[in-house]
Amino acid sequence: MIYKFLFFLLILPVLSFSGVNCSLINKLNPDCFQKRVEARLNIALLYYGEQMIEEELQDIGDRLKEEFKKSTRNLISLNVKDIKRISFEDKLPKNFQIPGVHDEEDLMNLWHHGFYRGNLISKVYEVYKKRVSQKKLKEIDAIVVITSAQFEDLALSYGRLAVIEYPTYGRWGHPGEMVIFYPSQTMLVDTLIHEVGHILGLKHSSEECFDLETEEQRAQCCAEDPNSEGVMSHCRNRYSPEVVHEFSQCQIENIEKSILPSLLKGKKHQALFREKC
Ligand SMILES: [Zn+2]
Repeated sequence: MIYKFLFFLLILPVLSFSGVNCSLINKLNPDCFQKRVEARLNIALLYYGEQMIEEELQDIGDRLKEEFKKSTRNLISLNVKDIKRISFEDKLPKNFQIPGVHDEEDLMNLWHHGFYRGNLISKVYEVYKKRVSQKKLKEIDAIVVITSAQFEDLALSYGRLAVIEYPTYGRWGHPGEMVIFYPSQTMLVDTLIHEVGHILGLKHSSEECFDLETEEQRAQCCAEDPNSEGVMSHCRNRYSPEVVHEFSQCQIENIEKSILPSLLKGKKHQALFREKC
């Protein structure tokens, strides 16, 4: 009995701060960061699907690195520790049809929507784990995924994984035809910085504007909100941004006071105190 007690008292805290429990080896949502000397976030950048070539992914990685540092005013830098283009593991089931869609690649991308829905994130995590060494995975803080597989939203994040659709499909008022939209590199990078912001523990800015009823009220609220041009705000022009948005002053303060210290010391990050922006 006394040994058990000693185990909990002495060994468990050592295990949780040795990095294993804070790493992505066992789960996608570890509740602490790994301790580090430099304010640098190590990511794996993946493309899951068939439509993006390796060079394009490399370019996005370079731009993401540059813009992320700028957007945090040099507080946190991003390091692309691993970059991989991974083909779909599944095969398109015979007889799978969608009215108005004939191309096999499009059908495959759309098939994911019905089959995986919210579980696509776990699928990509499992697929990636098979292709990375434990040593490397232990060093990675977040997995950033661009995929042609369709899911519920244009982009989302869960735990330490962020995902965005590229391309994205929709009927957008054309019931008879499927429209394929290829987000620009600026839009991809802007959205990915927003999702990495969530991974770091930041919440949406200007949320109160989206509780308002009319479009007019929302526009007025956004116009008056000092955080509306920040990357964590849905007020920003996120569908055709001309520039990549940065973190607003209020979110910069959250990064400085709360996120950065916990990143460096390897603390739990979900329980952080953050100012509402
Ligand atoms: Zn969001």
